[in-house]
Amino acid sequence: MRLLADLMSSKQNIIVIGSGVIGISVGIALQEVGFQVRIIDEQEASQKASEGNAGAFAFADIVPLATPGIIRAAPRWLLDPLGPLSIRLSYAFSIAPWLMKFWRASWSDKFPALMEAQAELMALSRSALERQAALHRGEALLRREGQLRLYDTESNFLESASYWSACKEFGIGYTLLTSRHEINEIQPGLHNRFEHAGYTPDWVNVCDPKLWLRNLNDRFLSGGGFVEQRRARSLSFSSNKVTVQCDDGDLYCDFVVVAAGAWSKSLAQTVGDYIPLETERGYNTTFDPGEFDLRTHLTFADHGFVVSRVGKSMRVGGAVELGGLEAPPNFERSRILLSKAKQFLPSIDPIGCEEWMGFRPSMPDSLPVIGASRKQPKVVYAFGHGHLGLTQSAATAELVRDTILGKPWPISSAPFSAARFTRLSSI
Ligand SMILES: Cc1cc2nc3c(=O)[nH]c(=O)nc-3n(C[C@H](O)[C@H](O)[C@H](O)COP(=O)(O)OP(=O)(O)OC[C@H]3O[C@@H](n4cnc5c(N)ncnc54)[C@H](O)[C@@H]3O)c2cc1C
Repeated sequence: MRLLADLMSSKQNIIVIGSGVIGISVGIALQEVGFQVRIIDEQEASQKASEGNAGAFAFADIVPLATPGIIRAAPRWLLDPLGPLSIRLSYAFSIAPWLMKFWRASWSDKFPALMEAQAELMALSRSALERQAALHRGEALLRREGQLRLYDTESNFLESASYWSACKEFGIGYTLLTSRHEINEIQPGLHNRFEHAGYTPDWVNVCDPKLWLRNLNDRFLSGGGFVEQRRARSLSFSSNKVTVQCDDGDLYCDFVVVAAGAWSKSLAQTVGDYIPLETERGYNTTFDPGEFDLRTHLTFADHGFVVSRVGKSMRVGGAVELGGLEAPPNFERSRILLSKAKQFLPSIDPIGCEEWMGFRPSMPDSLPVIGASRKQPKVVYAFGHGHLGLTQSAATAELVRDTILGKPWPISSAPFSAARFTRLSSI
């Protein structure tokens, strides 16, 4: 604790790059232990994934996306124009190395360890959310209504056995449902094709991800933090200080945290770290659902989309489009999801549809990068959370705080290290 006392007396200052849910959560956690924190973000009202996501603390989602057998399923999804996965032709060549690493992560010599690491981080995320919600009056913004994971057919349900046995192995509570009646008890109004589902009661949602972020932002500001609109271009180092070179001049600090979501890769490159970060673009539509009474978070497991409540509205979202950071959105993808949702929830009558696309920051092994740079201990990374950035935000903040304080982590750090990839390694 000597180190902590020293830090508090000298008020070391830290710059966090990115004001998404990861950056703000990190900012608060560092502020709480006495650092002077400034968050910079290039956009005020930005395309940040943290504002438009589905709002789920998806604690049950411990299975990495690159599952064994994915290579057999992927071509089927890619060939289906209504399927959950698409690759922009113009981006196919650029994304190929990432896809190779993604495939490699699905091999049986890698997959179990990746799942174990994900499950450890999820367990920490669950308890960290409770700490965060208690400290920052977040409870009023949470919905504790669980998740219903629905399957189209009995055979798809049977194929999901490995998902549920992983939940069992890692202590995630669930009930399997095998009749329309049982499903109807939890969520009435679904199409009668759904006779198989799993219910995870410990799943939590935010009332609205935008409000959640605003609440955290207000806590950060009232704790003495600063948020400024600035774009960081690169990082450099001199006599124990970090220089953050911005478009409008240089900033100096004792530590920098890179939490720039899907845009973090180029900043890490300026430090000399190679990190295979890509974006999985995701789409959703938010609308007034009329009389439909959505009682829980719905996951349509065979179709790659979810339905959640956001304020008084309903949000239908998901899809994975591999197309990089520059291409304009293709909202046909959100329309496809919405038309499927209309089939599965026949009584919804969407009014006032608002379409959105966001950039998930995604690593090929489904684990985020959290911890110090391989090259510069004064640079700490917190990005690459893919589909789970909101879910893992409070835990990431605690781990970044521990890294900077030099404290041991409560979970194993190696799976999240920036050093786990090299340019030549397959993973
Ligand atoms: C359709 C969809 C649904 C999702 N649903 C869920 C869900 O239900 N649950 C869940 O846990 N996750 C979900 N996610 C994923 C989640 O939204 C992301 O993992 C998370 O928001 C990432 O947060 P972040 O803070 O890392 O990035 P962001 O929210 O993208 O923030 C990064 C910020 O960095 C800023 N920035 C970038 N470069 C620079 C620079 N050079 N200088 C200054 N600032 C910079 C950007 O302007 C941006 O504001 C979903 C994502 C999508 C797309």
